[in-house]
Amino acid sequence: MKYVLLCTALFLLCRFSFPSPIPAAQSTEDLKSIEVYLDKFFPSIYKSDSRTLEERIMEMQKFFHLTVTGKMDAETGKVMKQPRCGVPDVAQYRASPQVWTKKVLTYRINNYTPDLPKSRVEQIIRQALNVWSEVTPLTFQRTYGPADIEISFAYGAHGDYNPFDGRGGTLAHAYFPGRDIGGDAHFDESERWSESNREVNLFLVAAHEFGHSLGLEHSNVRGALMFPTYYYVNPNSFRLPLDDKQRIWRLYGKRK
Ligand SMILES: [Zn+2]
Ligand SMILES: [Zn+2]
Repeated sequence: MKYVLLCTALFLLCRFSFPSPIPAAQSTEDLKSIEVYLDKFFPSIYKSDSRTLEERIMEMQKFFHLTVTGKMDAETGKVMKQPRCGVPDVAQYRASPQVWTKKVLTYRINNYTPDLPKSRVEQIIRQALNVWSEVTPLTFQRTYGPADIEISFAYGAHGDYNPFDGRGGTLAHAYFPGRDIGGDAHFDESERWSESNREVNLFLVAAHEFGHSLGLEHSNVRGALMFPTYYYVNPNSFRLPLDDKQRIWRLYGKRK
């Protein structure tokens, strides 16, 4: 991994700083991976995007509070390799925010990860939903029929044209409120899900994904639950950060 990063960084340094010849195979591959990242997480909100790759890298660097160089440097490469949520970091245009208009939402656990006992998965999902019901007038009811928020663990392509990418990279994604797939949360089964600081903590990722299920976009406030990259905090002492509280209150108001 370090080797790949170094290659990427070195290559891009060459690519953008000096017009020196570079091996064609390497250049195409690396440029492709940057473009894939930007297309996925910083897609254009306009029909025609005339921005250069440099300008697009700058947008990403601004979001992550990196030094804005427009060049692929080590710091930028490191962020691009971090495990993260699969939802884009730029808000797509909407006439009005997508929110649920009812206060009681249903959820269903479609299947389980083999990484944890079933009962623990159920408790963790409940705990992650409670993060949001504790601060809003929303309540969540478990159901075994069709539900507003359907929760699944899946490998690779799983029927929503949004395939998972194996271990690392994208950990999960969720859909904004709406019918059918709206509200649903999908977890990449290629990850090793845990209830500790080992590998990927299910509670932290689930709480983040349910934020999307309720209509929240990513936040670029460091330490916010809705920050797009994975960052471990102890779930037992987890407190919903103020940025997330303020943003969910804007959609649903405070709990009375
Ligand atoms: Zn997310
Ligand atoms: Zn999915």
